[in-house]
Amino acid sequence: MIQLYIPLNFLGVIYREIKQSLADMERLFSLLDENREVADKPLAQSLMTQGAEVRFSHVNFSYESNRKILFDVDFTIAAGTTTAVVGHSGSGKSTLSRLLFRFYDVDGGAILIDGQNVCDVTQASLRQAIGIVPQDTVLFNDTIAYNIGYGRPGASHDEIVAVAKAAYIHDFIASLPDGYATMVGERGLKLSGGEKQRVAIARTLLKRPAILIFDEATSALDTRAEQAIQAQLKEIARSRTTLLIAHRLSTVIDAEQILVLDHGRIVERGTHMQLLAAEGLYAQMWMRQQVGPTEPDASPVTESMT
Ligand code: ADP
Ligand code: MG
Repeated sequence: MIQLYIPLNFLGVIYREIKQSLADMERLFSLLDENREVADKPLAQSLMTQGAEVRFSHVNFSYESNRKILFDVDFTIAAGTTTAVVGHSGSGKSTLSRLLFRFYDVDGGAILIDGQNVCDVTQASLRQAIGIVPQDTVLFNDTIAYNIGYGRPGASHDEIVAVAKAAYIHDFIASLPDGYATMVGERGLKLSGGEKQRVAIARTLLKRPAILIFDEATSALDTRAEQAIQAQLKEIARSRTTLLIAHRLSTVIDAEQILVLDHGRIVERGTHMQLLAAEGLYAQMWMRQQVGPTEPDASPVTESMT
């Protein structure tokens, strides 16, 4: 038995190694897959932003030909303002952010930034202009300093520390034996969902993009950490064009415009006060979230919003 145990254990280690590199390969291929249908036009120019007005003009979209996901989605985010999107799970919220980032091309209509169609500009310039804090942050197998500094190549160590402090992740990093040189990702230190989100927030703070997308950016944090970071997010969103995909409705109150998405259609739009007065879907969601407990994990109503 002992003779058998040792090689099996050894194989187990190798198996784990292979599985991890496969996981990386899968990610690589899924990225390649996503980008295959999207290509720069031969004479594509760089995106030029001024205030960075974002316009979704009658956008229709489906991932697969037999199932339509977005129906005639039409809205404008005025330069420097925040538009929040709320709606049940699967209503198409994250799809909006993927289309703005041009991971996919729309099937009908257009997405324009300061009047330029995202399909006509180079992908590099488009992605330079947009900072995204996604629902699930993927970290590189590299140091934590690299993972933050990636937001703006050439950033100094002091700048990286400053944004880490602003994203409330500095104390945690400083407590690690290797500090900012700690390896993270698949083959390094595993970070919790909340810690990864803070790394993504720090990265975005460093990038200082013209357009911000928060896709339920604080959903993995507990209420207290969320409130602390919310103030920071509000600070960076000030004077930036922001698409805020919201988990908890309490985070959208101040948005200049709130869109309610239902099965891929905008069914209501307005400010928080206007939508409450309309006594429609938004008002119902708001009422339900008021009675439920505030911790995301404890509230089935809040869960269904993600
Ligand atoms: P939300 O963010 O509002 O929860 P999503 O935009 O992620 O919703 O998804 C909208 C719909 O599109 C869902 O029905 C989802 O299953 C589907 N969907 C999302 N990504 C893909 C994909 N890569 N391929 C096929 N369908 C997808
Ligand atoms: Mg989503």
